[in-house]
Amino acid sequence: MSESAFDPTDFPDPHLLGIEGLAPPYISMLLDRANEFVELNRTVGGKLDTLAGRTVMNLFYEASTRTRTSFELAGKRLGADVINMEVSTSSIKKGETLIDTAMTLNAMHPDALVIRHGSSGAAKLLSEKVNCAVLNAGDGRHEHPTQALLDALTIRRRKGRIDGLQVAICGDIVHSRVARSNIHLLNTMGARVRLIAPKTLIPTEAERLGVEVFHDMRAGLWDCDIVMMLRLQSERMQTNFFPTLREYYHFFGLDYAKLSAAKDDALIMHPGPMNRGVEIASDVADDIGRSAIREQVEMGVAVRMACLETLVKRQEAENGR
Ligand code: ASP
Repeated sequence: MSESAFDPTDFPDPHLLGIEGLAPPYISMLLDRANEFVELNRTVGGKLDTLAGRTVMNLFYEASTRTRTSFELAGKRLGADVINMEVSTSSIKKGETLIDTAMTLNAMHPDALVIRHGSSGAAKLLSEKVNCAVLNAGDGRHEHPTQALLDALTIRRRKGRIDGLQVAICGDIVHSRVARSNIHLLNTMGARVRLIAPKTLIPTEAERLGVEVFHDMRAGLWDCDIVMMLRLQSERMQTNFFPTLREYYHFFGLDYAKLSAAKDDALIMHPGPMNRGVEIASDVADDIGRSAIREQVEMGVAVRMACLETLVKRQEAENGR
């Protein structure tokens, strides 16, 4: 594996809390490095010792399948020791605050803390209290930076570029940290972003985000290169945002009829977990030629390896270790 131009000390921040504000060279730096890990991950027994002796702690306050597993695998593929804090069996259940938990974990000298939390801003708060690198694995409806990076890597490998592509993000935008991180990344890297959703699921600040807004799938998907579908985040909904799931699927579920408005080779993406028959038809999700959904998961491991390596190595260089 080439060690070429990669220098973690070039990275501007000690933590990865979001994509907002991250300049194009640093996004490219992480994507280039992640791309170097893809082949390694496809090799039987492929493992490095870059982070041997370092400890990565996963602290997940919200459910997760892909993100937690791939952060664990990413740490292990780099040779780190990975500890998964199970919120359901930890002192968090006994009423311990996030800060107290953070201080407790910090006293064990981890090298990186990966946090997912239901409150926007939780990762930032944690980063202010601990000495190690903090990676945001999703904070409320705020950001999910590694998801946007893995989406970008998937797009770049399939389409050869991000710049100039028309990307439609469809569904529950208002509650989605995935949408927010992707809007920042895609705008920064020169793509054109459209949001497609019922009015109730579009954030009020949408116009400020430099995107085009559509409330009709066929109009919004017209001539798109990338179609990114999002799950309805019912866990963040206190009131009704649409009449019925059936009606939602009729107007906003991605099926072949709506997809025909996009380019013939438009790529179908979804961060998972998918709700088949709600935001996406099963046959579209499983379309071998056009759906990149499994590939997104694969890229997730490579991207998280790049992020862990960059931040842990950067921190060590800064502390002169
Ligand atoms: N897995 C993504 C997230 O954690 C998307 C979703 O849950 O719908 O935000």
